[in-house]
Amino acid sequence: MRILKIQTLRGPNYWSIRRHKLIVMRLDLENLAETPSNEIPGFYEGLVEALPSLEGHYCSPGCRGGFLMRVREGTMMGHIVEHVALELQELAGMHVGFGRTRETSTSGVYQVVFEYLNEEAGRYAGRAAVRLCQSIVDRGRYPKAELEQDLQDLKDLWRDVALGPSTESIVKEAEKRGIPWMQLGARFLIQLGYGVNQKRMQATMTDNTGILGVELACDKEATKRILANAGVPVPKGTVINFLDDLPEAIEYVGGYPIVIKPLDGNHGRGITIDIQNWEEAEVAYDAARQISRSIIVERYYKGRDHRVLVVDGKVVAVAERVPAHVVGDGRSTIAELIEETNKDPNRGEGHDKVLTKIELDRTSYQLLERQGYTLDSVLAKDEICYLRATANLSTGGIAVDRTDEIHPENVWLAQRIVKIIGLDIAGIDIVTSDISRPLREVDGVIVEVNAAPGFRMHVAPSQGTPRNVAGAVIDMLFPNEQASRIPILSVTGTNGKTTTTRLLAHIYKQTGKVVGYTTTDGTYIGDYLVEVGDNTGPQSAQLILQDPTVEVAVLETARGGILRSGLAFEAANVGVVLNVAADHLGIGDIDTIDQLAHLKSVVAEAVYPDGYAVLNADDPRVAAIAERTKANIAYFTMNPESELVRNHIQKGGVAAVYENGFLSILKGDWTHRIERAENIPLTMGGRAPFMIANALAASLAAFVQNVSIEQIRAGLNTFRASVSQTPGRMNLFNLGNFHALVDYAHNPHSYEALGSFVRNWTNGDRIGVIGGPGDRRDQDFVALGKLSAEIFDYVIVKEDDDTRGRARGSAAELIIQGIKQVNPNYEYEAILDETQAINKALDIAPENSLVVILPESVNRAIKLIKGRGVVKEEVPQQ
Ligand code: ATP
Ligand code: ATP
Ligand code: MG
Ligand code: MG
Repeated sequence: MRILKIQTLRGPNYWSIRRHKLIVMRLDLENLAETPSNEIPGFYEGLVEALPSLEGHYCSPGCRGGFLMRVREGTMMGHIVEHVALELQELAGMHVGFGRTRETSTSGVYQVVFEYLNEEAGRYAGRAAVRLCQSIVDRGRYPKAELEQDLQDLKDLWRDVALGPSTESIVKEAEKRGIPWMQLGARFLIQLGYGVNQKRMQATMTDNTGILGVELACDKEATKRILANAGVPVPKGTVINFLDDLPEAIEYVGGYPIVIKPLDGNHGRGITIDIQNWEEAEVAYDAARQISRSIIVERYYKGRDHRVLVVDGKVVAVAERVPAHVVGDGRSTIAELIEETNKDPNRGEGHDKVLTKIELDRTSYQLLERQGYTLDSVLAKDEICYLRATANLSTGGIAVDRTDEIHPENVWLAQRIVKIIGLDIAGIDIVTSDISRPLREVDGVIVEVNAAPGFRMHVAPSQGTPRNVAGAVIDMLFPNEQASRIPILSVTGTNGKTTTTRLLAHIYKQTGKVVGYTTTDGTYIGDYLVEVGDNTGPQSAQLILQDPTVEVAVLETARGGILRSGLAFEAANVGVVLNVAADHLGIGDIDTIDQLAHLKSVVAEAVYPDGYAVLNADDPRVAAIAERTKANIAYFTMNPESELVRNHIQKGGVAAVYENGFLSILKGDWTHRIERAENIPLTMGGRAPFMIANALAASLAAFVQNVSIEQIRAGLNTFRASVSQTPGRMNLFNLGNFHALVDYAHNPHSYEALGSFVRNWTNGDRIGVIGGPGDRRDQDFVALGKLSAEIFDYVIVKEDDDTRGRARGSAAELIIQGIKQVNPNYEYEAILDETQAINKALDIAPENSLVVILPESVNRAIKLIKGRGVVKEEVPQQ
């Protein structure tokens, strides 16, 4: 077996609209191509031995053990690899279930598709699955040690990328509310929502979080001073820089017991509390000194440690943090109890799980000593032994929810404190013996205010009610269900995507909105080019969706990007499918036009149920997509008699129709005439029917988004496909006594479209300079030849400089075959060099004629034409 290619899908795709995270592995079974699993001796047994849990896979029989039954009876190796890849991820703790395996048109080569949670782990699982199966084929087994290594690697990959618990709770809440989110790939920034409606987060800081508030909270001493000035109870304390100042400081805070901590510290590092004498104080001073130059000396307040979480000015949760401890069972030693406690799967390293493993440090031994224990002491049943002095979860503490117990006065105080410090999200650390009584009655104090507080103790407390604090954050960022998304209009089809995308963007600009759009020529925001390039894939779409100025996204969505990685968004508001015709067949395992239609239908299927699929009623494969999408349907048609459209309108549907020379919107009983085709420059005076179709599609897409008829009209009237804007697309030049047209139609369907315009050129002779890219199929060249003979009076056949692997002259040969099929006596000439061919045509062009050039290089062709003294670039009016 050999892996030919691994692709990672991240959005709605050819295989599934709903499952976005898929690995597509192109697998050559090589010598196993003809051998189903039942014909490989010992394979079934070896597989069951390696992965007994495959028993849980239902597969087509639909019952437990179903998949293994298929293996025993005989199934192809691609299918087995798919199930193994899923199972390996499952065993590493990633719950995945979706898989598909399909043959390709190359015999023995399969597409193996399976779900992933983490990209890298997914690709790893694919490779490991092939390794595992190959090993069982070759040796009857997969060594245990190798499987263990695979699972360990997978777990590591999974842990490395997992979001922190706070961030995860926020994105989960966002997902629940249909708010899209994405990682920005720098500084752990997360974007919620799209374009101008986006909000950003980094852990639990938001773009509402002020820098002054954060810096103040990070400076414990300053925080205390500001709070003390405001009459808030804070620990009595002072800051020192030298050990010599320690005795005086101790006296200042009123003598022992005291607390010593580093001025800039966090997570409880370097802190010693409840210091009883000078020796302990000296040790504590040194420990704090490791972390920070300046040292805080404070009075020690006896009490329990609480964290009060305030979001958007309101207390949303209160947790009591209990320091790391173990509870005796009358038999085990403290060391054994610690080991047992750390076995809890909820305990991880650092902040990656709900709880953290207990680790002992110098204060732990001090504590043990004070309690008269060593690690080998056996605790009586239910006796509690504290192992850490501070209650930070990151040192192994646990959390108990106290949200319902806090006294209203303390709520008021906490809410006042965050206003004083200036934070939208803050965690206030309170030491008090009883949170249900006002602080001043029980000598409680505010120890610290934390910016970017962790959520895990509230979302998943060890005891008590979990609190949906992420909900409060989302409420703050998107109050009253404020929009998080921007309209997305996605355009696909075999031909006309760029033109329609540009026109639609131009129409939308009439509403005054900032439109971000992507095309084959580049990415644009408003009137400006952001980036040149063939930007019709998900990365360019992301750029638009991430841009904080964009109010509407119009995205040319080509087959390549959908195949390579799926769409960049979960769903669009409008998905336009213009047409489906043979082009690029045989590339990327898309071999038939029906497969191509299926691929394009992704754009219409990934539309919100209240959005619209805008479909070409005149193209049966496109019209059929209506069955596949849950969105509303809107049709466009060049045929006012179209039965499909008539029925649709009768049922209250909406459509755009070319009728009596007008582009019109039909809705229920109403006909809104937008404009006469001949007044729309893009349609070349109404002579380019395919441009009318593109204009109908764009108008309809805008209309279903509530753009007014007046604005649509204004857009249609002012959109000019000038050479500079759309080089190579129906660029017409007036050379005084004749015209030349440059277009890079490059598949039979677009030749047809071009033909419909050329046929309408009745002023004079029609001359074609024709050829096409060498990687097209033979029959495409023949078709081009036939069509050319039908629409041109004279043809010059040329070839591209780059023959893309074809023998020089062979493409021309095929075109000539096509010409002769139409008329054996047809007059043509073959000049393989493109420059010579174009020059010849321009030399011989008679009065009032039209020279149509399908060039390899649009720029060169335009240069050659301009060299002849162009009178004007023209969009003719009838
Ligand atoms: P984190 O940022 O993780 O909350 P930190 O390193 O910033 O911790 P503090 O919050 O200042 O440290 O202190 C940690 C814990 O030590 C407090 O939550 C409290 O339990 C205890 N503590 C700190 N100062 C005092 C004090 N003066 N009296 C009693 N306990 C204190
Ligand atoms: P690409 O796949 O190269 O990005 P595209 O789909 O973006 O192409 P355009 O650039 O808009 O298409 O148009 C390319 C050519 O296709 C045009 O110059 C014209 O010859 C032809 N064409 C445009 N619209 C249509 C249509 N609706 N039907 C058939 N052919 C069309
Ligand atoms: Mg703290
Ligand atoms: Mg394009």
